[in-house]
Amino acid sequence: MSADPFSLHGKTGIVTGLANADSIAYGCARALHQAGAELLLTYGSPKADKHVLPLAAELGDAEALLCDVQEDAGVDALFARAAARWDKLDFLIHSMAFALKDDLHGRVVDCSREGFALAMDISCHSFIRLAKRAEPLLKEGGTLITLSYYGAEKVVDNYNLMGPIKAALEASVRYMAAELGPRGIRVHAISPGPIKTRAASGIAHFDQLLESAESRAPLRRLATSEDVGRTAVYLASQAGSGLTGSTTYVDAGVNVRA
Ligand code: NAD
Repeated sequence: MSADPFSLHGKTGIVTGLANADSIAYGCARALHQAGAELLLTYGSPKADKHVLPLAAELGDAEALLCDVQEDAGVDALFARAAARWDKLDFLIHSMAFALKDDLHGRVVDCSREGFALAMDISCHSFIRLAKRAEPLLKEGGTLITLSYYGAEKVVDNYNLMGPIKAALEASVRYMAAELGPRGIRVHAISPGPIKTRAASGIAHFDQLLESAESRAPLRRLATSEDVGRTAVYLASQAGSGLTGSTTYVDAGVNVRA
């Protein structure tokens, strides 16, 4: 084992949710690759091919697979590939969310039954499904990480439907940590501040959220996907071996303000 507690040399992991170079998943993949990990990357839409494949090539020629979490065949193929390629898996990053625009832009009180179920399936239950599939491959224990947001905890204007969904995701993290901890599997949510990405552009008045976060942050800057990536390295490496079940804010400190 490396003397560096942050090293991921000899470790293998799946990073889901790449759409383009702005994706938080890409920030994670870059940092995990720099720390020495071998990666399988996934992207949710065939349209992302042209953005994701060149990024994968920069990450030690990481393999990139199309995997829509709503399609079992794609998820089967992902874990079959991981099992064929590696003796064991060490971590999985779940970095995806989706809500229909009408539901996302309206009041929580008005969101449709179908829209709520769809957002919950892709943004929350998919983490549970992927964890179940990863469990047998995490033979020496490991780390499962998902991405949440402060709107899970407090009402953030325009975050709407995603607030209750992220709250369910963070609660799932705690239950999964309790269930999987005895097997040495650690489960975390990372909660970044606002970062300009494709998914974020679906939130109304997102620019105002960015401006407010930057001015209110104790560090007087926005968090970046690189910041998130380094935190993922910490949580997935030996350095984070005593932690599980947490929601770790990577938001330049915004969450400490009243
Ligand atoms: P992004 O658009 O780069 O990534 C979102 C990803 O979700 C895309 O790759 C998309 O393909 C994927 N996705 C959507 N539906 C899918 C499906 N059915 N199957 C598989 N993948 C699917 O945006 P991002 O901001 O990097 O989002 C990543 C995560 O970070 C999300 O959970 C988001 O809620 C969370 N987050 C983002 C911010 C922010 O400000 N950007 C802040 C806190 C948390």
